[in-house]
Amino acid sequence: MAERETLEVDVLIVGAGPAGLSAALRLAQVQKSKGGDALSIAVIEKAPDAGRHQLSGALLDPSSLRDLIPDFESKGEPLGTPVDNDNIYFLTEASKFRLPITPPPFQNHGNHIISLSQFTKWLAAQVEAEGIDLFWGFPGQHVLFEGDPHSVDRKVIGVRTGDRGIGKDGQPKGAFEPGADIHAKVTIFADGVRGHLTKQLYRELQIGAGAGPPQFAIGIKELWDIPKDRLKPGTVIHTLGYPLREEEFGGTWLYAMNDGRISIGMVVGLEYRDPLFDPHAAFQHFKLHPFIKSILEGGQLVRYGAKAVPEGGWNTQPQLHVDGGLIVGDAANFVNSMRLKGIHLAMRSGMLAAETAFDAVRSGNTSSKSLAAYKARVDGSAIKSELYPVRSVHQAFGHGLVAGSVAAGLAMFTKGVALQDLPGHPGHKQMEMIQGYYGLAKRDYLVPSNAAPIDRKVTFDKVTGAHYSGTHHDENQPVHLLVHTEVCHTICGGEYGHPCVRFCPANVYEMVDNGTGGKRLQINASNCVHCKTCDIMDPYGVITWVAPEGGEGPSYEGM
Ligand SMILES: Cc1cc2nc3c(=O)[nH]c(=O)nc-3n(C[C@H](O)[C@H](O)[C@H](O)COP(=O)(O)OP(=O)(O)OC[C@H]3O[C@@H](n4cnc5c(N)ncnc54)[C@H](O)[C@@H]3O)c2cc1C
Repeated sequence: MAERETLEVDVLIVGAGPAGLSAALRLAQVQKSKGGDALSIAVIEKAPDAGRHQLSGALLDPSSLRDLIPDFESKGEPLGTPVDNDNIYFLTEASKFRLPITPPPFQNHGNHIISLSQFTKWLAAQVEAEGIDLFWGFPGQHVLFEGDPHSVDRKVIGVRTGDRGIGKDGQPKGAFEPGADIHAKVTIFADGVRGHLTKQLYRELQIGAGAGPPQFAIGIKELWDIPKDRLKPGTVIHTLGYPLREEEFGGTWLYAMNDGRISIGMVVGLEYRDPLFDPHAAFQHFKLHPFIKSILEGGQLVRYGAKAVPEGGWNTQPQLHVDGGLIVGDAANFVNSMRLKGIHLAMRSGMLAAETAFDAVRSGNTSSKSLAAYKARVDGSAIKSELYPVRSVHQAFGHGLVAGSVAAGLAMFTKGVALQDLPGHPGHKQMEMIQGYYGLAKRDYLVPSNAAPIDRKVTFDKVTGAHYSGTHHDENQPVHLLVHTEVCHTICGGEYGHPCVRFCPANVYEMVDNGTGGKRLQINASNCVHCKTCDIMDPYGVITWVAPEGGEGPSYEGM
């Protein structure tokens, strides 16, 4: 049996998204400017190469990029299409009303419509050019701790990467390779929304103890090619209203790039109450709205994807520093939900964490107290000045459209001064049982309350979506969705009508005949697009997402 390898580095970064890559690049820059012995730095990423697991709308606010790479234009940065015009509409089922003014969070002059996947590829190339090792296809599977296992003051000493070559029966296959233990003086957790290593920090070190409960949304996105003259490149459209009801918080976007390529998508808060609601079905209704259909008709679906968005904002940031560890980007919930923007905040937090990690390693003190300098940097940065004024807006929308709109107004016009701190609810706690929501036991519980017609021209089913996400997983490996299925087979059907079959946007969860007249849960793990919605949304907390074997998952090139 192969031995487990141990590697020693000064700084380990988990996740090569905008946050992790910005951290790596900043470390190299600080190293250059301060001189002295070079720090050893490693970045591990579960995707097989750069940008494959990156999904975003994606409107880039270039403010952090300008600070990280001032000469980015001369370095071939793929800035995509500059925003030309902003439009915001309120939709009813058959009509649209254009808002006479564009509220500040929706103003995008100076921003660019990019492919986050391409942008990440470019950023990774800048990091590699500095001689930093990026390990693609290496998922971090467990956080390594030192100290009393019952104490929340344990030290993070690195990460164990996933084993390779285990069969679905849990036994080693021919080419078994145990994961490596990467020991680091500082580990920067940049594992994105509901990062499963950061989740281990929540559980083991209680880093969420002083924060509001995290709030999430699910974002579903498609790329389309439409006739080139239909929308001017740089057109940005946001909509509110239909098909979401007063009780559901969310909205849609449509961004026009060059050559007829558009990004179209919908974000829905994961605190919806209706257990039979299906976010994917809502997105199909949106595409069938006469206004949107007239844009898509005659076009071609190019790609599909879905991912959760951490929308709780400033008050839901966990403790950002622990002994030997720092948390950045989406893993720290740094997203402005009013602007639906997090790329620049992820980059900024990565840069600030890098500066802190560098000083801590150099000083030989990587305790939580020493790494607290990162929190001070965040508090003094544009992250706080952007997120604090809008801190409770998502939480207010959890109380309905009217409450949310009032909060959004207060955030905008008083810069958050008149906004109250609202605690919000953990997403799955808001979903009601069928009996409570509908007042009766529903019999056709597998059918979404908002089922949409599938015409395979404008609307597509989830299986087709999963195909267009390019996702791939070897089926002969342990299922990477750890589910206590006895809950599904006993109480979940009667209480919630198996909501996993609806909130999963990729048909991973399916209730199939069990051969004796009943139903059993079938987990189509190979369809998974790594969106994390199931881990967040299942009402009993019995689904845990862990990383599959390295290099697997969606393939989001161009997204
Ligand atoms: C639908 C949608 C639309 C959005 N639109 C916009 C927009 O228009 N503008 C904007 O600014 N922001 C937008 N955002 C938010 C933005 O995409 C994120 O804030 C940003 O990508 C966060 O960067 P990050 O590096 O923290 O996380 P990510 O970009 O998620 O990167 C995390 C990386 O870590 C890797 N990883 C995770 N776990 C592990 C592990 N265990 N081991 C190794 N690697 C791991 C992942 O594969 C991934 O590459 C949108 C988000 C969504 C979902």
